[in-house]
Amino acid sequence: MGNILVLIETAGDGAPKSTAAALLGAAATIGTPVAVAVTTPGQGGDLAAQLGPLGAAHVYLAESGTAAAELGTAQVGALADAVQEYSARIVLVSNTNDSRTVAGRLAIVAGGSVAADAVGVRYDEEGQEVIVQHSVFGGDFTTESTVEGGLMIVTVRPGSVDARAEAVVGPQVKTVAVSTAAAPGARIDYAADAPAQTGRPVLRGAQAVVSGGRGLGSKENFALVEQLADSLGAAVGASRAAVDSGYVPQSYQVGQTGVSVTPQLYVALGISGAIQHRAGMQTAKTIVAINKDEDAPIFEIADFGVVGDVFTVVPQLIDEINARRG
Ligand code: FAD
Repeated sequence: MGNILVLIETAGDGAPKSTAAALLGAAATIGTPVAVAVTTPGQGGDLAAQLGPLGAAHVYLAESGTAAAELGTAQVGALADAVQEYSARIVLVSNTNDSRTVAGRLAIVAGGSVAADAVGVRYDEEGQEVIVQHSVFGGDFTTESTVEGGLMIVTVRPGSVDARAEAVVGPQVKTVAVSTAAAPGARIDYAADAPAQTGRPVLRGAQAVVSGGRGLGSKENFALVEQLADSLGAAVGASRAAVDSGYVPQSYQVGQTGVSVTPQLYVALGISGAIQHRAGMQTAKTIVAINKDEDAPIFEIADFGVVGDVFTVVPQLIDEINARRG
């Protein structure tokens, strides 16, 4: 069991993003988790203090004054340096747009291969090779892959790993200046956070998701999906038909050409359950479907199904949830 590097994505305030806990948890199942993060010079202390409780045995803080203006370049440089520093053979990153880009570039710079969109990692029966699990064909099959020789870089689907590492009191922290010369990349001239539309959780990585489909019938009716989401503290998602019909923006789309989610709870309202939609949600831990067509394919994968009209069932559901909450 060697050192497993974990790339920590950070939010605007410098804190680790919510994906860090699962990445460190996955790393702890196959080795010693080493958190690698890029920070502004002198600003990494708080970050290191937050990574120990999430299970980082080591924290490698790569300081860069220009990281904010370089698209992933500092992260590639930091990981390439950390691979040498910790003699690491495996790197775990989140399967997000930013970290996927880093994964591909790191594979070129450090001579490795990318195992993309993993839902789990484990050792083989001999305890020698790390095996990566992938959920494919809309979640109907799980395939496994490994890398023979060279660095293995795994992009892990947010929400797919339940394992959490034991907290480490006082992880060993190493602070270095990151070298970015080896990996030139795109420059960021301007960036702004998209204004938060709601106080709801972000869809990617949410613990609970309520999605609506064409069965909602109109943009106005889609408010019902949002009301149920709010009563459950869930993120809001949608089918492509709901997006194409203009009920919600494309960023809400769950599925093959949208966001992949693996929440604890996924509620599908007025969604038929086409294979392309299932591709993005079938790995949810518990699936609840409400659809007036008893033959809708969504019921094939639902743990709980209600054959009924969403406009009759959902208001009752919201009332019941609110009543139980007191
Ligand atoms: P429909 O299939 O029209 O289903 C609506 C459902 O609502 C029906 O089952 C109906 O019984 C039910 N309903 C109607 N009224 C009510 C009511 N009052 N109460 C309860 N139930 C009701 N789709 C995605 O979602 N995500 C993707 O990423 C995606 N990518 C795609 C990529 C490609 C290349 C292609 C070809 C398609 C893709 N699609 C995707 C589209 C997908 O094939 C389906 O067309 C889409 O998912 C259907 O959305 P829907 O279930 O909301 O609509």
